[in-house]
Amino acid sequence: MEKYSPYGEKRSEKAAILLTRIAKTLFVDDCNCLLCGKELVEKNRSGLCPDCLAKLPLNDGEICRKCGRKLANEADYCNTCQNNDRYFDVARSVCVYEDGATALVHGLKFGNKRYFAPGLANMMTDKYLDEKFDCDCVLAVPLSDKRKRKRGYNQSDLLAREISRALRLDYMKGVVVKTRDNEEQAKLGHARREENVQGVYKVTDAEAVKGKRVLVVDDVLTTGATASEVARVLLKAKAKSVSVLTFASTKYKVPSETGDREGENEDEMV
Ligand SMILES: [Zn+2]
Ligand SMILES: [Zn+2]
Repeated sequence: MEKYSPYGEKRSEKAAILLTRIAKTLFVDDCNCLLCGKELVEKNRSGLCPDCLAKLPLNDGEICRKCGRKLANEADYCNTCQNNDRYFDVARSVCVYEDGATALVHGLKFGNKRYFAPGLANMMTDKYLDEKFDCDCVLAVPLSDKRKRKRGYNQSDLLAREISRALRLDYMKGVVVKTRDNEEQAKLGHARREENVQGVYKVTDAEAVKGKRVLVVDDVLTTGATASEVARVLLKAKAKSVSVLTFASTKYKVPSETGDREGENEDEMV
């Protein structure tokens, strides 16, 4: 009796080809640099080749102690954090939102490149550990249903899920939701951003966050208004504390120096 039927072999060959095709669609460029596409000799946590990784604008210089944005001077806090209530304990980000970091966020958010999420989340997990964050659970800044339908997914959800897995923390999906569509933060100046997010978020399950140290995950922090409003509703629901982790944050610009209103003409979208 023959051990393998030739038909069976052909069939399994076909199945293998099909599986490879499916895998390629799901995990495109698994072994290529997310930014330049160069083949990776060794797979690494970031998904970037050594050149692109070296050029990534890491946010490890002078930063605002509260929101974590890069500062141009040695002040302890940026003006935004000094002049506005910020309900989170602390916010930190892996990168400054420019160059390669912008390309990665845009790919994940606007380019439908969901396979960027694990690399970005790995870098965020490392930041969490470096900063000695100590949280009990993770949740993502939610999108409105309308925006989620349009994009098909919430990029921050993808990051939060990966981070919760890596850190073995509870993932609180849907515990904070957006109650209505507000204007895109990207289209607004600084003052309007503060009003625009007020009353937009709601905790659906207060028991789930009661007494917990919550990690809020988002892709980009611009003025911190969104993260602060999410933190406010979590604290109101009796969360113990809220820390914020984003992949990137914008450089803090002193409005009088640049002549711009802070936060204007940036492409953050919540
Ligand atoms: Zn590269
Ligand atoms: Zn700040």
